[in-house]
Amino acid sequence: MITVAEADAILQARCRAFGIAELTLAEAVGRVLAEPLIADRDFPPFHRVAMDGFALDWAAVQAGQRRFEVVHTQRAGMPAVALPKSGVAVEVMTGAVLPVGATVVVRVEDVELEQQGERRFIALKSIPEKIWQNVHQQGIDRRQGETIVPQGRMLSPAEIAVAAAIGKVTVHVYAHPRIAIVSTGDELVEISETPLPHQIRRSNAAMLQAFLRARGLECKLFHTGDASEAMHQCFADLLQDYDVIISTGSVSAGEVDILPSVLQELGVEVHFHKVAQRPGKPMLFGQTQTCTVFALPGNPVSAVLCFLRYVWRWICAAQGQEKSKPLFAQLTEPVVFKPKLTYFLPVRLAVSSEATLLAEPLAGHGSGDFANLVDCDGFLELPAEKSEFVKGEAHPVWLYRDWC
Ligand code: AMP
Ligand code: MG
Repeated sequence: MITVAEADAILQARCRAFGIAELTLAEAVGRVLAEPLIADRDFPPFHRVAMDGFALDWAAVQAGQRRFEVVHTQRAGMPAVALPKSGVAVEVMTGAVLPVGATVVVRVEDVELEQQGERRFIALKSIPEKIWQNVHQQGIDRRQGETIVPQGRMLSPAEIAVAAAIGKVTVHVYAHPRIAIVSTGDELVEISETPLPHQIRRSNAAMLQAFLRARGLECKLFHTGDASEAMHQCFADLLQDYDVIISTGSVSAGEVDILPSVLQELGVEVHFHKVAQRPGKPMLFGQTQTCTVFALPGNPVSAVLCFLRYVWRWICAAQGQEKSKPLFAQLTEPVVFKPKLTYFLPVRLAVSSEATLLAEPLAGHGSGDFANLVDCDGFLELPAEKSEFVKGEAHPVWLYRDWC
């Protein structure tokens, strides 16, 4: 049996990309960039007026001049006018190009306006403090040719704004895998069915689909009973048609847990089966040339933990996503866990008055108790090397709920 760290290393070494897709900006939010976004012009592309007011030459202000004739108006969208000479002003609007020769903008609220017939003058009520005041200088944010967003970044609205500003109608992103989710077990019925006393509804598939959908990934749902032939046929077809299969059930030690041997018969190379952890010990990971199989245990808490801790991170890495570090949270109570296994403890999060992330243990009733997860936010990863964990210890936390 391998450790959690060994499982991580194997998964990382067996990462696979799924090609590249070209999407419009409207479709691309939440996807991972497969190209850098490079400034096609300076940001901003010209000295941009940042306040409604009057553009002047700073040298005239410094020389003591306080009254200026207003000789032009410069609005956003107009080509730049020039100050005909030092000592006059141009009325300017936010977003306009700073007139050529001007080096400072005085806000409209900081001047007294005077009209003399056709001529307009301003008198400064307060003196600008420095050159370029109220001017967003050309190239001060980013220079032309500079990478603004690196490849591998997930696109939030901020990156979409940059893509739009540099004229990208479409962007290249990593393609999503075709994902099949397979529930295994004779005891499982459709959600819409009324189970007989010995049956249960297929909640794992709904849970995994929800997790993927919340992150913009689609999947198809399948079910197979425990009979060898049916399972064989189901997986044979899916191995042909999908990039990723995520199954639940039939990988433990029971008599009907035949999925590992079925997968091997179908030519799946098993990279690992069983990880020294609780819950989720029986997890299996294998691949054919074209398909990656994550066979998770059927117990719902095991399935969600294995999905969060391994499958989802593998899918993110396969899409070239920048590695994100796990959050750490501090135990609010001591915990004792004797087995030599990594213990993924269900926890509820809170923030202390000192802004520390706190993890309150809510162990529940084992890996079948998925109702307990409703009260929790994620799992605290307690290392196998220790059995006693004191209050205040910080450990990585894996969240299935958006939390902030
Ligand atoms: P198994 O790993 O197949 O031995 O299943 C372990 C436990 O998880 C059993 O109690 C199963 O009934 C339950 N289980 C398996 N698959 C699902 C599923 N898709 N939804 C809910 N429970 C499941
Ligand atoms: Mg089963």
